[in-house]
Amino acid sequence: MVINHLVTLNTWNLREFNRFFKTVDEFKKGRFMPHMNKIITNLFYEPSTRTSSSFYAAAKKVGADVISINNVNYSSVAKGETLEDTIRTLACYSQIIVLRHPEIGAAKRAADISPVPIINAGDGAGEHPTQTLLDLYTIYKNFGKIEDLKIAFIGDNKNSRTVHSLGNVLEKCARVYYCDDYSVDNIPEADIYYLTRVQKERGSSGSYELTKEHIDKLPKNCIVMHPFPRNEEIPQWFDNDPRAKYFEQMSNGLYVRMAILYERL
Ligand code: ASP
Repeated sequence: MVINHLVTLNTWNLREFNRFFKTVDEFKKGRFMPHMNKIITNLFYEPSTRTSSSFYAAAKKVGADVISINNVNYSSVAKGETLEDTIRTLACYSQIIVLRHPEIGAAKRAADISPVPIINAGDGAGEHPTQTLLDLYTIYKNFGKIEDLKIAFIGDNKNSRTVHSLGNVLEKCARVYYCDDYSVDNIPEADIYYLTRVQKERGSSGSYELTKEHIDKLPKNCIVMHPFPRNEEIPQWFDNDPRAKYFEQMSNGLYVRMAILYERL
């Protein structure tokens, strides 16, 4: 039997993305058949607000229950248990495991031995495919497509897994700029500006900040995205600007994760 893991989006094509967006639209409209007696494990080895709580809410909304391990220090991990043994254990009690882990490749390691689907909720500086699906869905809702657009990544492009995952998909169908120099005169003209915070926990340093001067130069019909949490990258006064889409991303995250779980239960 093929197990429907979600470790990376590298094998998805445009047709699969568009099919998935249609499913998310259905969830947004309120259509779903609840899955009773199913259990999802949220296994988080790193801090999370949006990913863990939206997966929790999504699980409840598709009718499933949730085992939440948000602080592995209170699990047998603190007694030295391996990732593999923890996954095999939780697979005895749940139908899907949502895994966030600080090491690149941890989701793949888990998927290699897991008898139930592993959803990669972020593996170190590696990938974050469910964030990418909600990012792409937000782009799709704003532009009616994800291809033939221009996206500029501004921030910690080296260590942000959200940039790696989204960049990998869009490099195949859009124009992607990774801005190392984001001085006002060097910001490219784009449809999407995707900001990220400095990943201090992965050894990055420095800071990125969109000033009023930058914002005044952004095209009128562009959108500004951020996976959050933000530090100083985007000033709070910009939140009410119609180009600010980060709260829309968060809210889409619920429906996207409902669809991800629903398709695997
Ligand atoms: N929440 C996103 C992540 O888990 C972005 C970030 O932490 O900066 O990768």
